[in-house]
Amino acid sequence: MTATRLSVPDNRKAAQKISACAVCARSFGQGERFLRLAGRSVHEACFTCTECGEQIGTLPFAERNGKAYCTRDFERLFLPKCNRCGKALTGTLVKVNSKVQLHAQCFRCAVCGCQLAHAGCRVGSEPYVSQNEAYCLTHYQIKCGRTCSECGIKLLKWYERNSQIFCEEHYKNRFGRECTVCGLVSVQYNVNFYGESYCQEHAKQLPACHACGRLVGKSGPTHQKAASASLAAGCDYADGRSLCARCVPQAVHNPEDARSVLGQVLTFFANLGLDVPALADAPPLVLLDRSAMQRLCEHHSSAHAHQKCPLGVTCSRHSIRISAQSGRQRRSEQHEVERIACLHGFPRHFLAAVLAHEVGHMYLTLRGFPQLSHQACCELTRHRVVHTCRNSQALPTLSQQVVLADSLNTPDPFQQLHNQHSRLSSSAPALILLNRTECKLGWNLRQA
Ligand SMILES: [Zn+2]
Ligand SMILES: [Zn+2]
Ligand SMILES: [Zn+2]
Ligand SMILES: [Zn+2]
Ligand SMILES: [Zn+2]
Ligand SMILES: [Zn+2]
Ligand SMILES: [Zn+2]
Ligand SMILES: [Zn+2]
Repeated sequence: MTATRLSVPDNRKAAQKISACAVCARSFGQGERFLRLAGRSVHEACFTCTECGEQIGTLPFAERNGKAYCTRDFERLFLPKCNRCGKALTGTLVKVNSKVQLHAQCFRCAVCGCQLAHAGCRVGSEPYVSQNEAYCLTHYQIKCGRTCSECGIKLLKWYERNSQIFCEEHYKNRFGRECTVCGLVSVQYNVNFYGESYCQEHAKQLPACHACGRLVGKSGPTHQKAASASLAAGCDYADGRSLCARCVPQAVHNPEDARSVLGQVLTFFANLGLDVPALADAPPLVLLDRSAMQRLCEHHSSAHAHQKCPLGVTCSRHSIRISAQSGRQRRSEQHEVERIACLHGFPRHFLAAVLAHEVGHMYLTLRGFPQLSHQACCELTRHRVVHTCRNSQALPTLSQQVVLADSLNTPDPFQQLHNQHSRLSSSAPALILLNRTECKLGWNLRQA
């Protein structure tokens, strides 16, 4: 809404058409000056400030909700105030933050009062803001800067650890780790299970070894500084898996080699007292690539079919045989393992771990246990092999370190055998109790 200043026209007829003054109710004389505000006409002399009552007359005024105010009262009542001088904010403003606004001329260092530069005007020194106050560089450093505990330099940006302050260089020296790939020291890094660190860039860029989880190097100039032998170029399996140079010489691609590993796994479990078949009676073992493995898992509705990269599958067939015996029908369930399939190219000890898992499936399948109850048991069998051969490439024997998982609660004969074994071997020299999550750590990168 706006107010307009007018004068009554000299023409009498036209003058009569204007209604009486909304304040004093007198009519308007010819040529008399009046104002129109929110559809009402008012004598100039009757036009006063709503707040202080002073005549506005020809002075500038402001209007709000149909009421007129002298500029002094309008600014006092309705305009936001400068946080420095307390006066109404008009003209060029500086928004320090959501709470603090200043006149451009009030944007000064809170200590020395020197003019600070603001958007649209580069006059004055660079402003630094802390807790609703602005400072020049010198006074910001004095007021808010921190001192590096190693070199004593006053800092605007610093690192804090254990309530000690560091400049970037000394923080990196103290807490940074060198990337195994590029040698760069950084304070944000990834550490794998083996204690090797990687800068974030390489942790993101390089594929992890499918077997051991170490990053797989690529040949090229950036990798020449590689401190670790495992970062020499690895092997890309073209099915989305890579193997590091350390694991490549151990990789098993030949089905006959894989079968000999299966034989060692079966012997390992037979030595633990489990009733597993001898290698000659074991089902066929096939090595597949990822897509063939995925199809096979889906075909057999394996619990692993939903996984991103199933490692192996035990294919089984179940049937019901009905036979007549002395005039009565007898139903008996038949369980058969057709074959075991594994991805090709695992290093020997990793293949042994995967096969241990599949031998678990085989054991439970042949005894008619439903698929659902398999998973925990099969992981236990895998972990036994993983932890026994973590530090040696050889497959384990009974006298070697025995690792027991403690998180299994479902009763079944397989577990009873494991438990029985743990009692028998309680006098073994190295007995380590691990839970399942700890067992899995070895295959994943973890954030430092
Ligand atoms: Zn009037
Ligand atoms: Zn007033
Ligand atoms: Zn001000
Ligand atoms: Zn200053
Ligand atoms: Zn320093
Ligand atoms: Zn790096
Ligand atoms: Zn590897
Ligand atoms: Zn499984």
